[in-house]
Amino acid sequence: MKKHREELQCLRATKMIPAFIDGELSYRELEQFMEHMDECDSCKEELSIQFLVEVGLNSLEAGNTFDLQEELNIALEEAERKVRIYHFLRRSLFVLECIGIAAALILALLVVLNLAG
Ligand SMILES: [Zn+2]
Repeated sequence: MKKHREELQCLRATKMIPAFIDGELSYRELEQFMEHMDECDSCKEELSIQFLVEVGLNSLEAGNTFDLQEELNIALEEAERKVRIYHFLRRSLFVLECIGIAAALILALLVVLNLAG
């Protein structure tokens, strides 16, 4: 029996699947989506099915041979790379903010010292 919170997460994750396949999730959404796919087998299965329908049928119609597992792996790897870049940028931004705050403090200190002197 699943907890209510988990069910809500599954509901959100399955709603995100079409946008994931279309590559329309924001980095933040992608991060949450991938986290959930890592720990939830039923949503991952749902992703496989929708991926097969969306990408697989299009591919077959175009006359291409299609390896679902391989295509899905590529899509997931791509998503993981995006999430890693997102983490990296967010960390960088945090560091920059810290530097900015430190610089502002030093500046304020200099102003105060100047006024005092
Ligand atoms: Zn789930």
